Amino acid sequence: MEGAETAVLIDCGLSVRRLEQRALELDFPLANLTAIIVTHEHGDHIGGVAALARRYRLPVYMTHGTQVASSFSNERGVEVREISAHEPFSVGALTVRPAPVPHDAKEPCQFVIENGEARLGLLTDIGSETRHIQQHFSDCGALILEFNHDTNMLSDCQYPDSVKLRIAGSHGHFNNKQARDLLSKLLSPRLRHVFAAHISARANSYDLVEAILRTLLQGTDVNWDIAHQDGVTPWVTV
Ligand SMILES: [Zn+2]
Ligand SMILES: [Zn+2]
Repeated sequence: MEGAETAVLIDCGLSVRRLEQRALELDFPLANLTAIIVTHEHGDHIGGVAALARRYRLPVYMTHGTQVASSFSNERGVEVREISAHEPFSVGALTVRPAPVPHDAKEPCQFVIENGEARLGLLTDIGSETRHIQQHFSDCGALILEFNHDTNMLSDCQYPDSVKLRIAGSHGHFNNKQARDLLSKLLSPRLRHVFAAHISARANSYDLVEAILRTLLQGTDVNWDIAHQDGVTPWVTV
């Protein structure tokens, strides 16, 4: 997210080279980044963070639990700034409001990021909805929301049973119905953009997610898009 003179990257599972290629497609020089903020220690979120932080000399914000679980304190040449999963913090002109989430990591959190009028919610890697989550992510102008899997496709896919149980568990990932239910509660006059994200390649299909969003959001002013694993999503002004 970019606002005024501040630009932050949430998570990075890509190599520096691949991220540079994608940033180029968006015409955004990574040298303009102010900081990296990490949600939790799973590889698809933190795998590329240390190399990127070193390459561009960026501070990295994360909870104590994420730092311990990822052994990030052993990374040389990276400045880690420890955050509380319960307290807002500032990065330049942006206010970042973390929310703890039920997910099978040590101290995972997701974020609402604000800059004056704009309010963006990022919510992936969440196994079940909580009352706190609903409240925390209300009144966003834009929302990036996990539509991880379809329950039938998950049970039919090639994953081992242990992985299926993990994904479908209360500390795993949102299925399409959970995502739809939460989204229907988060609809507000302020919400203008929704991005379906963290979509499983094996246990979900873009067509299913598209059908859900089309049905739920028809007749509203909400624009929606689907974030693909293998490509960039265009810039959106919130
Ligand atoms: Zn993830
Ligand atoms: Zn995860």
